[in-house]
Amino acid sequence: MPALGDPETMLKQVQHMVRDDGKDDRGIRGRLYLQMKTFDIAVIGGGPGGYVAAIKAAQLGMKTCLIEKDKAGGTCLHRGCIPTKSLLHSAHLYHLCKRSQEFGITAENVGFDFLQIVRRKDAVVNKLHNGVRSLLKKYGVELIEAEGRLASPDRIILSKDGEAVGEIQSKNIILATGSCTMRPSWIPFDDKYVVTSDELLRMEDLPSSLIIAGGGDIGVEFAGFFNALGTDVTIVEMKDSILPFEERDISTILKRTLVKSGVKILTETTVEDVTVIDGKVHAGIKVKNANQEVLIADRMLVALGRRPVTANTGIEELGIELQNGFVKINERYETSKAGVYAIGDLAGPPLLAHKASQEGILAALHIAGKEAPAINLHLVPRVNYSWPQVASIGLTVKEAEDKSYEITTAKFPFTASSKAIISGDDEVGFIKIVADKKSGEILGVHMIGPDVSELIGGLSIAMSFEAMASDIEHVIFPHPTLSEVIKEAAHLVGGKAIHI
Ligand code: FAD
Repeated sequence: MPALGDPETMLKQVQHMVRDDGKDDRGIRGRLYLQMKTFDIAVIGGGPGGYVAAIKAAQLGMKTCLIEKDKAGGTCLHRGCIPTKSLLHSAHLYHLCKRSQEFGITAENVGFDFLQIVRRKDAVVNKLHNGVRSLLKKYGVELIEAEGRLASPDRIILSKDGEAVGEIQSKNIILATGSCTMRPSWIPFDDKYVVTSDELLRMEDLPSSLIIAGGGDIGVEFAGFFNALGTDVTIVEMKDSILPFEERDISTILKRTLVKSGVKILTETTVEDVTVIDGKVHAGIKVKNANQEVLIADRMLVALGRRPVTANTGIEELGIELQNGFVKINERYETSKAGVYAIGDLAGPPLLAHKASQEGILAALHIAGKEAPAINLHLVPRVNYSWPQVASIGLTVKEAEDKSYEITTAKFPFTASSKAIISGDDEVGFIKIVADKKSGEILGVHMIGPDVSELIGGLSIAMSFEAMASDIEHVIFPHPTLSEVIKEAAHLVGGKAIHI
């Protein structure tokens, strides 16, 4: 790099130097330009929290930049929600093709091309990545492709490849650096055989066997995907059920269905040691009250949770308060340093994209001095996209009882849904409403079954307006649709459903 001097001269020198190297010079040009910039809002981290916050801030008329060290869209778009759902969609289509005869369709030699499944996933991600970039451009958000580190509550140092390349001033800063996979030090990660979801999503070959450590959302979704394509999958979960935070009857049905389709599930079992011998993963496991066993597989996915990204951000150096490792925020998303805000995974659970985005919108509104409703973390819907899908919102039975509610529950099965029967999805699943016994207020809704990910949004609206089950009894749902189960369950809260 030349010594710092006249920016225009430097720019030409650097551009020339970079062209000789044959490298992309866009980032370098950005570095020199940015040294002179000031903003109303600078957002560090371009995931669904950060990029949404930046767009909202720009829409509110604030001069905004988004600093992203990797790719706009973050974990969700590049290593999380989107690629996994694209893979699951392909696997489900394959599953349906294999059932085609049942629907009177002849499809011979049904098979799959794994590389094409991977390529399609990449194409989906690229398309959405371009979409995010053009939205940022459309709303005038300046995208700075660099790593950002807080130097003070209104100053950010920018670096690339570990080298400081500039700095910016901003009246307000939103931290949205997200989370990363937990990599316990005793597990010998090698990016090939023993991997996290990040590496598994970059794979180009299908393992014939896979051990999944962790039966939470990520582990279960990957289990559904690989099992559908014929991989021999074993989930090892230390708690006594998979998806342990969901209603017990939902976890039980999900387990039963996955086991019936070929997934092996070991609960109350811990992985104690992992080694790779001759290209095979050997995992020593300990089943509760039993001896140690060794599982052997082509690959092992470690899905033991995620932790907030605070390293190299200046958060700790600046003395910003943490709580359980996450950045502590007040009801305005402001951290312990005035003018510095935090949102998304960095600011605590639930670690979900839609929660991050909503916090981004609210933080931007607060900074702009606009009215912003408070977020109710109990009303953040949760979805697992394996098969059958699981979707829930609000309190479980146990949570409601722990809060001393006197509750009533109503459960309506998909076996009685005409649409589920039409699509051949009526074998398993139900909707369960947890309501306050006296008032009928809906406290929680828990579903397992076909496309329940698409049904939960309606319940989200209802619960945001504190709907009573009796309000939903008189809402008209289109027939035949899966959504009718919501109305039926609401009737059931009051006494009797029509169709059972
Ligand atoms: P992130 O998306 O993690 O984005 C943070 C960004 O900050 C990253 O792009 C990172 O490069 C950048 N960054 C970090 N440090 C710096 C720095 N110093 N300077 C500049 N940039 C920096 N959630 C759902 O709601 N639905 C799902 O179906 C779902 N599926 C998932 C599947 C998997 C396999 C995984 C891993 C996660 C999934 N999630 C899902 C969770 C979801 O991805 C996260 O909750 C969400 O991405 C959090 O958004 P965020 O903006 O807080 O952070």
